[in-house]
Amino acid sequence: MKIDGYTRTCGLIGNPVEHTMSPAIHNTLAEELSEKLVYVPFRVPEDKLGEAVEGAFALNLLGCNVTVPYKSRVIPFLKEIDSLARDIGAVNTLVRVEDGFKGYNTDMPGLYRAMCGDGVRLEGEKALILGAGGVARAVAMLLSVHGASQIVILNRTVEKAERLAEEINTFSGRQLAEAMALTDYGALPRGEKYLAIQATNLGMFPRVEEAVIEDRAFYEKIHTGYDLIFNPSRTKFMSLVEEMGGRAFNGLRMLLYQGIIAYELWTGVKVDEELAGKAYGEMRRAMKPEEQHPEQKPE
Ligand code: NAP
Repeated sequence: MKIDGYTRTCGLIGNPVEHTMSPAIHNTLAEELSEKLVYVPFRVPEDKLGEAVEGAFALNLLGCNVTVPYKSRVIPFLKEIDSLARDIGAVNTLVRVEDGFKGYNTDMPGLYRAMCGDGVRLEGEKALILGAGGVARAVAMLLSVHGASQIVILNRTVEKAERLAEEINTFSGRQLAEAMALTDYGALPRGEKYLAIQATNLGMFPRVEEAVIEDRAFYEKIHTGYDLIFNPSRTKFMSLVEEMGGRAFNGLRMLLYQGIIAYELWTGVKVDEELAGKAYGEMRRAMKPEEQHPEQKPE
């Protein structure tokens, strides 16, 4: 891409940022759409977040993504916040407005777009969430907004699951969510089948041989399993779901679509599925080969 005086910059604010696949998504989209836009990762130290946001505005950046560990911490430095991002309590996309940045959360719409593409419905669904961290909270909101009929939140630290379930019940105005210790999965009713969303860190590279629950009996209860982990692209959780007859998906398309939705917010263009497919291919190629499961090299 030829960079000239008209080229706009978008960036990623996080720490660390070295393993990100976002440049592959955004720079592919910009190139394919012939937009004068480049996307660059910026490693920002803990005590410099406010200065980084202010500096990004001063340098005329069009927008930014925000990643770990700043998705909640960035909120005080924004001029405006979208209502979904406020409800979720996390911002992963900054869009330039007149006097600063407006914060959005595209992670959840990204997961929803991926799920729709995979033919996964949320309405009326009974769902299990494994984990009660930042992403699990957003997933619980998504399930609530899209009409899930029941949410069971299983977490190692059961108090965190209880707090999250309470929050979701207050948010939805109904007794939708309940908490369970991770080890108590045997108490789930026999014969019931669930959509399960794996939102813990367990199973991520390099701990690819681990799953948060390893008992096959648990996986009999899952008709569809979504692991939000994308490295490796086939996790132990996914293998167990499939082994017991369920359908399994990884977090790569969530990552892809959160990027696409951010790109659409920055530029106003609509990214079609053909272009999304090209960005997906580039993103897979950008995964460092040594970080991938040996059987999971890009197609
Ligand atoms: P987080 O806030 O740190 O929460 C981590 C969760 O994992 C907690 O529920 C924690 O349980 C649980 N956990 C960690 N180690 C565990 C262990 N050894 N045994 C059992 N449970 C364990 O993290 P997060 O930001 O929500 O991220 C969660 C996952 O989502 C990560 O794997 C990340 O890769 C993925 N993610 C994917 C995308 C995407 O685009 N696909 C985007 C963002 C995040 P305790 O509460 O007991 O500590």
